[in-house]
Amino acid sequence: MSDNVMYDSPTEFLHDVASVGACVAQSVIPHDKGGYVCACSCERWEVIATSRDEGLRLARAHTGSSTG
Ligand SMILES: [Zn+2]
Repeated sequence: MSDNVMYDSPTEFLHDVASVGACVAQSVIPHDKGGYVCACSCERWEVIATSRDEGLRLARAHTGSSTG
């Protein structure tokens, strides 16, 4: 009957992911070798864009916001 302790962890895990992997801010920074490095505060997303506009578009696509 003490096996129930195991089932307390999933909730804690989900809470951790939400706070660490939050997409609160994206950056589009010019790269030395051309192009723009796009990164997100979630630290799980980083791509090279050909232009600043493209980078901003990719950032919007990453966060799931299609406005604009
Ligand atoms: Zn993100």
